[in-house]
Amino acid sequence: MRLFACESCDQVVHFDNRQCVRCGHRLGFLPDDLKMHALEPADDAWQLTADPGRRVRFCANAGLDICNWLIPAEGEGEFCVACHYNRLVPNTNMQDGIERWRRISQAQRHLFYSLLRWRLSPPDRTEDPAGGLVFDFLEDEVQSDGNVVPAMTGHDEGVIAIRAAEADDLTREQARASMNEPYRTLLGHFRHEIGHFVWNKLVRDRDAFEGFRAVFGDERQDYGLALQDHYQNGAPPDWQLSFISTYATAHPWEDFAECFAHYLHIVDTLETARGFGIAIDPRGHEEMAAEVDFDPYRAASAEQLVSAWIPLSVAINAIQRSMGQPDSYPFVLSPPVVAKLEYLHRLIQARVAERRQEAA
Ligand SMILES: [Zn+2]
Ligand SMILES: [Zn+2]
Ligand SMILES: [Zn+2]
Repeated sequence: MRLFACESCDQVVHFDNRQCVRCGHRLGFLPDDLKMHALEPADDAWQLTADPGRRVRFCANAGLDICNWLIPAEGEGEFCVACHYNRLVPNTNMQDGIERWRRISQAQRHLFYSLLRWRLSPPDRTEDPAGGLVFDFLEDEVQSDGNVVPAMTGHDEGVIAIRAAEADDLTREQARASMNEPYRTLLGHFRHEIGHFVWNKLVRDRDAFEGFRAVFGDERQDYGLALQDHYQNGAPPDWQLSFISTYATAHPWEDFAECFAHYLHIVDTLETARGFGIAIDPRGHEEMAAEVDFDPYRAASAEQLVSAWIPLSVAINAIQRSMGQPDSYPFVLSPPVVAKLEYLHRLIQARVAERRQEAA
């Protein structure tokens, strides 16, 4: 992500900040220009400190301090471009529900930041009633005998369901450990599930199976049986040679979604490194030097992303270990995985170019 600063006092501020810690200005993120703005109260709305002619108001979810995104004052609708896709949200009559939703919303807006950086906004249900994007944040079901049936995270024809309880560290960590996963985050869930949505829209609905199958294999194998087999027998022992995770081995759809999540992890983290001017220049190891001297959202290739990402992720992991923390990127990018990322890179960039043409 970009590095943001308060427009009033130049203090570095974060994407999720509500207020500048130095000058006290109210802050909000405006998706139209992808900037954090310092704000001044203006009657029933706000105006930008740096551009007082521009009037804005907060997303309706700012009321519960769930969202810090802005809408032009004269714009329609009460929700921001991220929250307006929500259908079912956690129970806000309970403090737990509000806190879960805050964490979920933060991850959701982080996902949307990347989509908006490419100027890609997924169709909603008004534009595409059968397959448009919708989010359901689902509570677990507590049965009369006290038994808890966990809600399922997943994607089905545009509906992305996120198990709200995964916003609780204990629940998420238990799920991570029981599935033997090295990495499990809310942001990772959003980036994975949107991958399934993208597959529907850019591969299936466009009949682009040939290129997909050449890289990920034939998705016509029975999905239910494939998952069952995965949960019973696990991944093949040599999975790391061609897959990014054990789950990616379950079915080509999951492989695509896993790689899509990683493509977003890599692009977003490289942009953050670029924002902070982080370069890697290990003593005595010039072959591992890297600098993000390009915009990762407009990279020439996945190869370009990966050649900066590998040294950077190795360094971040080493720093994590110095703090007694697990690796932040516990994955290996083998050549077949890089080929999958290259396919995704071309898929996304082709859509970006198409969008630009539509807008022109
Ligand atoms: Zn400030
Ligand atoms: Zn919002
Ligand atoms: Zn999936």
